[in-house]
Amino acid sequence: MIRRDQKAGSQNSTLEGYACVCSSRNQKKAGCQTGQLMQGKIVKGIAGFYYIHVVGSGVYECKAKGAFRREKIRPLVGDNVEIEVLNEGEKTGNMIQVFPRSNELIRPAVANIDQVLLVFAVLQPNPHYNLLDRFLVMMEDKLLPVILCFNKTDLAADAQIEELQAIYGGCGYPMIFTSAREEENIDRVRAVLKGKTTAIAGPSGVGKSSIINILHPEANMETGEISRKIERGKHTTRHSELFLIDEDSYIMDTPGFSSLYVNTFEKEDLKHYFPEFMDHEGKCRFHGCDHIHEPGCSVKAAVDEGQIHRVRYRDYVEMYEELKNKRRH
Ligand code: GDP
Ligand code: ZN
Repeated sequence: MIRRDQKAGSQNSTLEGYACVCSSRNQKKAGCQTGQLMQGKIVKGIAGFYYIHVVGSGVYECKAKGAFRREKIRPLVGDNVEIEVLNEGEKTGNMIQVFPRSNELIRPAVANIDQVLLVFAVLQPNPHYNLLDRFLVMMEDKLLPVILCFNKTDLAADAQIEELQAIYGGCGYPMIFTSAREEENIDRVRAVLKGKTTAIAGPSGVGKSSIINILHPEANMETGEISRKIERGKHTTRHSELFLIDEDSYIMDTPGFSSLYVNTFEKEDLKHYFPEFMDHEGKCRFHGCDHIHEPGCSVKAAVDEGQIHRVRYRDYVEMYEELKNKRRH
């Protein structure tokens, strides 16, 4: 479980220091003034404009002006940046600096994601375990912590919920069972998102938009402000966008997340992406056991004894074989 601890450490203070950092030379009175430097987060970029949220001050429409342009740094949604306010009344500014990223995804193009809320439905549609396990492996590869959310509990019988608990309960991922329809356990989702930037992923039809709509109410003034400012860019193609769910928490819908699966790692690494295998590290007869055909394998014994779920092991073997065959070509 060492990797989990490392992850917890690496997702630390991404959002710290976000408050207005007005420089004292310009600070005539409380609040942000024209010409001041502030730190914020890019929530959207359209046609050369960046919309930057500053905690406590709102959203500024900015152009890129800094030295980072010479260094060919392309600002991404999610980037933590420094801006210089041009007009506080009109909320405009120049983006003058992009701070180093903790991570970066290519598709969707986004930086500094702290975690992923992976949403599947308990049923309608039935959870596709193989797809779910591929998502999990992909996120393990990117060192992104995952929270599993199973939605539509209002439609489910206890047996279906128990099956999901049996398969994923022992894998070390936090699990939340929700009903967006009945607004059940949405407060638990809100609690895990607090203070973080979270990508929401999962197949279509599972209730992602319904959950986002509850988390991101129209009543939120700053959210309304972002929407108004972005209105004029509406006819451009769909871009990545962060939604503010409270002062320091952002969510991002990630259409097409499923196409992210790229197996750039070796088949020998795959076992490290199944957290429940970690307890068996060093307990197999053979050093470097891949838990496939080797005799005296502790993982296989755990599958037989029901400690590791067969569905997970089956998906492991399938992905392992795929990686093995890929190598041959
Ligand atoms: P998305 O494609 O993942 O964004 O899913 P949507 O939020 O669009 O939901 C797909 C369908 O499932 C819609 O008809 C929703 O009304 C319905 N739905 C969403 N959440 C729930 C839920 O908790 N229970 C039930 N019964 N239906 C839901
Ligand atoms: Zn083994």
